[in-house]
Amino acid sequence: MNDDREPIRDVAHLGRVELLTPEPERSLWYFHDLLGMEAVHREGASVYLRGYGDYAASTLKLTEAAKPGVACVHWRAVSPQALERRAAAIAATGLGIGWSNGDFGLGPAYRFRDPDGHVMEIYYEESRYEAPAPLRSTLKNLPQKFTGRGAAVRRLDHLALLAADVPTNRAFAEETLGFQLREQVRYDNGAVEIGSWLSPTTVHHQVAYVVDARGGHGRLHHLSMWVDDKSDVLRAADVLRENGIFIEAGPAKHNNSQGFYLYSYEPGGNRVEVYSGSFLVFAPNWQPVVWNEAERGTGVYWGGALPESFIEYATPDIERPAERRAVPVVDPR
Ligand code: FE
Repeated sequence: MNDDREPIRDVAHLGRVELLTPEPERSLWYFHDLLGMEAVHREGASVYLRGYGDYAASTLKLTEAAKPGVACVHWRAVSPQALERRAAAIAATGLGIGWSNGDFGLGPAYRFRDPDGHVMEIYYEESRYEAPAPLRSTLKNLPQKFTGRGAAVRRLDHLALLAADVPTNRAFAEETLGFQLREQVRYDNGAVEIGSWLSPTTVHHQVAYVVDARGGHGRLHHLSMWVDDKSDVLRAADVLRENGIFIEAGPAKHNNSQGFYLYSYEPGGNRVEVYSGSFLVFAPNWQPVVWNEAERGTGVYWGGALPESFIEYATPDIERPAERRAVPVVDPR
């Protein structure tokens, strides 16, 4: 936000998200058969998947667990030196957990928590995906054949996390991870920050922090997979409905991010978005766009209204304490 501050360019992009699911086989069916991702590796209680356009071996890790939610958010650093710098900066905040040898396909990683408690890792080394013969593309610059299966999502795009305290988590992402703040929702004449959208790359946002209406910690609002065209989002809606998947909202267009969205629940309970449209941000001195209550409205630019569940439901699900019912809320995207 501050033009006088030298930007930190140490984080390249969102690399992988680990989702927890109490329905591992049905979740795998959703991501493999319906979203069209490939399963590339199994290890313990986990399956590793990828979109056909992801350059990395795996961008989604599904792990069996008692409850749904997000287990780890992995960020790739731009270099080994950048990894060391960010690890030192994170350690200085007291939020560090420590070094690990790295997950499947990844090199050494520094594990930490964001201020709200979401577990994250930063790594640099990553094995490049080498498609097996049946999945090799005839396009030299495409890492894997386009199979056209299901919604055929291209790549991991972003995720939205709930936080009890948005400003603290937004500041950590800006100041310690070096992310650029892209948009915000502020109520009460700007005094109450209830949502912030940030990115380390030109993609509009790779993480959103939105206030947890139930006052929880470490919860996931949604994971978002990219498709190239709005018509791909419409096809995803048909594919999901043909297979009995609950569509919570969309297809429709948000005002914030201009995203064209479709939200469904995968069988494990996590909310998953199929996403297109939006816009890229190139300005190194981008001025964050701030929306107030009136400008923000419901967050829908056009299309059907967002249901109450969009505000209330996240994973893992928790009861809302009665004393928090007056907390202002906004739909995260
Ligand atoms: Fe989203």
